[in-house]
Amino acid sequence: METVRLGRTGLQVTRTAFGALPIQRIAAAEAARLLRRAFDAGINFFDTARMYSDSEEKIGLALADVRPRIVIATKSHASDRKGVLDHLAVSLRNLKTDYVDLLQLHNPASPPDPDDPESAYAGAVEARRQGMTRFIGITNHRLTVARAAVESGLYDTLQFPLSSISSDEDLRLPELCRDRDVGLIAMKALSGGLITHAAAAFAFLRQFGNVVPIWGIQREAELDEFLRLEAHPPALDDAMRDAIQRDRRDLAGDFCRGCGYCLPCPQEIPIPMAARMALLLRRSPCEPLLTEAWREQMHRIEQCTECRQCSDRCPYGLDTPNLLKRMLADYDQFSAAHRRDA
Ligand code: SF4
Ligand code: SF4
Repeated sequence: METVRLGRTGLQVTRTAFGALPIQRIAAAEAARLLRRAFDAGINFFDTARMYSDSEEKIGLALADVRPRIVIATKSHASDRKGVLDHLAVSLRNLKTDYVDLLQLHNPASPPDPDDPESAYAGAVEARRQGMTRFIGITNHRLTVARAAVESGLYDTLQFPLSSISSDEDLRLPELCRDRDVGLIAMKALSGGLITHAAAAFAFLRQFGNVVPIWGIQREAELDEFLRLEAHPPALDDAMRDAIQRDRRDLAGDFCRGCGYCLPCPQEIPIPMAARMALLLRRSPCEPLLTEAWREQMHRIEQCTECRQCSDRCPYGLDTPNLLKRMLADYDQFSAAHRRDA
């Protein structure tokens, strides 16, 4: 399997990496089987986070015996030194290891002040000093923060949403990271499930020699698809370019990426799904979203108090409460039409 140097870390990681957010949603035995299959197939890079509930634990259960042969990245969303160190101590216990290769500060609103001895950055530096992590990275959804972090020279890696529908500005990050020798990890390469042409998404990112996409994997079929693509990396052809153009047209403008940073909602509205519902209904099989349980979830939007906690937290600056109202109206219309046609 092709490997790439992850910037100044010097780590050689497989260009098909395992994003371990989705394994939160499956049983431990199933997750272990999937992780082990990925490892046996040659994948050596696994990305998780303290925030992903039991994802770290599942990696620990599945891969502890091969720890020296894999590269583990985790993240801490703590905002101060002590919080980062406490998080990492839990991560190490869960992962059944005494170090991670990469500790990433998880989507801070702005890069932490490196001169503040109590900052999250100070916590990461202390973790590196104690040997709990080998390298320090940062993840972000805001281009300004991402660029500032890379330009600061303080981080070994950046993790950022990059895909075939990224803006031209976002797509300048690979060059910036290459110039600064910062490893670049691409998240949301399928834009949270909205990009359905996996081969085109894969081929598009493959054009950037220093980008390492982490593919969120929850099912064997998904793993198989990425292993197939990795075995025979497709080149971008006209059909793929057309598919990308269609996605760019359909997903242009302000759409919800499903990142979940707006949560929790005091009214328990499932915002990352609800705010994308119109797209999900049309771009994935719609039946699982038209159940009574989903109807009830969507109608929670009627309880929205417009507190705007969600929009204040959204890194894409979405007007989430109004977006949700539009999604509910569309959902009801779509459901009615679907019932009529059935
Ligand atoms: S504005 Fe509505 S959707 Fe957003 S957090 Fe408040 S109650 Fe939830
Ligand atoms: S509304 Fe914003 S923060 Fe919430 S899931 Fe969508 S893109 Fe992410």
